[in-house]
Amino acid sequence: MRNFAAELEARRAQGLYRERKQTQSPQRPSMQVDGQPLLNFCSNDYLGLASNPHAVAALIEALPSHGIGGGASHLICGHHQSHHALEERLARFTGRDSALFFSTGYMANVGVISALVGKGDTVFSDELNHASIIDGCRLSGARICRFAHSDMSMLEQHLAETSGHKMVVTDGVFSMDGDLAKLGELSRLCRKHDALLLVDDAHGLGVIGRGGRGSVDHFGLDQDDVPLLIGTLGKAFGTAGAFVAGPQLLIDYLVQKARTYIYTTSMPPALAEVTRQTIDTVEKDESRRTHLHTLVDRFRRRAQALGYQVMPSDTPIQPLLIGDAARAMAMSAALEARGIWVSAIRPPTVPPGQSRLRVTFSAAHTHEHLNQLLDALQEIRSDITTESGEQAVGSA
Ligand SMILES: *Cc1c(COP(=O)(O)O)cnc(C)c1O
Repeated sequence: MRNFAAELEARRAQGLYRERKQTQSPQRPSMQVDGQPLLNFCSNDYLGLASNPHAVAALIEALPSHGIGGGASHLICGHHQSHHALEERLARFTGRDSALFFSTGYMANVGVISALVGKGDTVFSDELNHASIIDGCRLSGARICRFAHSDMSMLEQHLAETSGHKMVVTDGVFSMDGDLAKLGELSRLCRKHDALLLVDDAHGLGVIGRGGRGSVDHFGLDQDDVPLLIGTLGKAFGTAGAFVAGPQLLIDYLVQKARTYIYTTSMPPALAEVTRQTIDTVEKDESRRTHLHTLVDRFRRRAQALGYQVMPSDTPIQPLLIGDAARAMAMSAALEARGIWVSAIRPPTVPPGQSRLRVTFSAAHTHEHLNQLLDALQEIRSDITTESGEQAVGSA
């Protein structure tokens, strides 16, 4: 039998072993974590809606009339009118013909990609795309052409050399770097080379674009330019699940063909009901987005002034590039000792030598929370410089 224990030991020795912390409070900035208070700067709860009292009350109110379990898959007897109403609301929110509700973003990517390309087709995927996109591409059986991150000339060359059915897949906001895909250019190339374009906007929806409509709207594009849009509801929307939205024909096709939609129990209908109500808040409450962007601007300026290397991102994903995995871990631990929770991101999530502290912001953070983070970053910077006798930050 394969030596599983040795593999885990090797992982530990490389500083790549992952541990799970237990939280004892809802997602919010101030949390109890493994019995200690920590100020959280690593969640994707960008608008601070995960423990929003109105949403919690709406869920409690929906439970008696909706029950808990979905009971069956959508094509058997689990498709509740609340699921359907959520899909209609999502279509309206994203300015698209139709939408299909999935249990998770992971399942949406795997199901949509593997339904729309197959053997004999080619799927083009940015090298920094989310793991669920990569897995969807692999499962599809299509030829996979990975292009260098946002390298449009390389993509164009590959598109021009390829015949047959083609699909291009990209994150809208890249999850570990926080930068935006070049959607205008991607859309132009897809049109020119007759390729279907799919954008996974897990980190853009709710956060950027008019009324939080995401990266496609941010670039002034719509369904004609980007036919397929995947969004997740467990991030800015603060609930759970995901969706794909696009032309009616493709949504109809996916109901028949997306195996991660067909062969799974539907989400609790009450959750769909609350998510539908939450979209109103996401759309109308501009103050959350304004505050979030103010925090991000201030953080970037101050972190740079402290000597940290920020990355080219204007989104709430604000990685500080550290380089070495062990050093990133040590800095994360030093922050934790000061009551600040920032996760270190290491290979294989990011390429070797690009380990980082991935700081994320939420509209629920106050300026005082940000001050605490900045003070701690200042302290650990000098600590680590003294301990190792070399420059702590910015050395990849
Ligand atoms: C989080 C994420 C997903 C997965 O969504 P879940 O609903 O958490 O499964 C998919 N794509 C991207 C880009 C993500 O960041």
